[in-house]
Amino acid sequence: MITKLIKKAKRLVEENRVKPVVIHSNGAMLFEVEGDTKLHEVLIKSDNTIVCDCDYHLTTGRVCSHILAVILFLAKEHDHENKTEQKSE
Ligand SMILES: [Zn+2]
Repeated sequence: MITKLIKKAKRLVEENRVKPVVIHSNGAMLFEVEGDTKLHEVLIKSDNTIVCDCDYHLTTGRVCSHILAVILFLAKEHDHENKTEQKSE
């Protein structure tokens, strides 16, 4: 089941369907993820709790593909930053 979620999340990131919306000064970040049926909002709170507004997450409290997509997106950005840092050294 988790592999299915990861696969979907990877696809969302590859298709540029994850967009950062707001980064609050307290470290909280809001993202928009374009799902297959509708747009979802994923919020990373300042205490690192992640919530999504989709039914799956709201009813089960489990990590959904949108949340995973945001994590993958951030991991990718982080990789990119590391590479740029290495180049400038
Ligand atoms: Zn979701």
